[in-house]
Amino acid sequence: MTLDIPIITTGIALVALTALVILCHRHRAVRRRSHAEVNDWKLRLDRDLKQARDERNFLLDALGDAFLLVDSEANIRFANQAARALFGQRELRDRPVREAFLDPRLADALLQCLATGEPAQSRVVLPQQTSPRGDLENRGVNAWIIDAAQLNGPGGATTRVVIRDVTAEHQTEQVRKDFVANASHELRTPLAIINGYLENLIDDDMINEPEMARRFLTIMRKHADRISRIVEDMLVISRLESGEANALKLEPFKFRSCIKDILERLESVIRHQHAEMTVTMPDPDLIMQGDRFYWTQVLFNLVENALKQNPYSGLRVEIGCQQIDHQIHIWVSDNGVGIPSADLPHIFRRFFRVEKHHSQQEIKGTGLGLSIVKRAIEAHGGSISVTSTPGSETKFLITVPVERA
Ligand code: ADP
Repeated sequence: MTLDIPIITTGIALVALTALVILCHRHRAVRRRSHAEVNDWKLRLDRDLKQARDERNFLLDALGDAFLLVDSEANIRFANQAARALFGQRELRDRPVREAFLDPRLADALLQCLATGEPAQSRVVLPQQTSPRGDLENRGVNAWIIDAAQLNGPGGATTRVVIRDVTAEHQTEQVRKDFVANASHELRTPLAIINGYLENLIDDDMINEPEMARRFLTIMRKHADRISRIVEDMLVISRLESGEANALKLEPFKFRSCIKDILERLESVIRHQHAEMTVTMPDPDLIMQGDRFYWTQVLFNLVENALKQNPYSGLRVEIGCQQIDHQIHIWVSDNGVGIPSADLPHIFRRFFRVEKHHSQQEIKGTGLGLSIVKRAIEAHGGSISVTSTPGSETKFLITVPVERA
């Protein structure tokens, strides 16, 4: 049997062609599959990356401190929620640090870290106008600790900057410094006076002049009394501030008994000044729950101030106490000289006195009375406010919740 050569060739060619078509088809299917797989991988990778980034941002946004990532050219690459809030929600990403920070002092630590590669820290105190928060700021002076360090990650060198707001600590520190400075100043003056008279008595031998010696000793005793009063008041404030307020001796007592106490203690002054005292208490048996010692001190300081600041006849002082809903209102008002409105915001500050140009002889108090009043009331969960129309009415109003009171 003979085979026809062209037919065989054609057959082979057809088989080869079919095989080729099948191969191509398979190849295309394989390519399509791998393409889809690559796409799938890419999608998953993108999703995982986004998830990782979201998680990182979520964690960094949860930080209370402002956190920024900055590249080697000092451009901001990331800013967390606190950083955005700190800079008044201005856009920070991709902006040069110097431009975004506004005040160059804020960028000092970062620039030093970029220049040296070493971690750097700085403490910056800015007045309100130059605070990064701009117009949103209302705390006067602000303090920040800025900490910069390089992170050498896989994406190259990045610098992280943490900006911590330490304004509250700064203010507390400032108050403490002022207190120490003011207390030293207040104590130094009477001490210097006592020393002066002692010198006269001892060095100038005046001890042998009984008349003169007695006069000097009387003045010295007055100033020694003043020192004791300042120290006593400072101790009360310190006790109230040191958390001992939690250890207040809370007990029920009739508020009227406090009023009775202080009226007895101030009786001679009241009589001497012919002051007219009124007590307004719709419920004379009103019971307070609190530390009776501190409430008596609060009332004493307020009524004594009214008398002390107005040492002339015609003075009327009202002491009032009334429960209104869930609060007890206590007030002390007088019709005396009053407090200038410019001084009202400062009146509860330690050592603050309206009359600043007095001589030592004229000083009437320690300047701590109202600080004690405020702290004692706050320790009972209450608050105090003051309004004053000089010559007409100066009124200190205390509100304290019934449960705490
Ligand atoms: P001080 O020991 O000097 O009385 P306070 O803290 O009790 O200190 O009071 C601070 C300042 O507030 C006083 O020096 C006085 O100038 C002013 N002040 C307080 N209460 C009155 C009042 N009822 N009338 C006028 N001024 C007052």
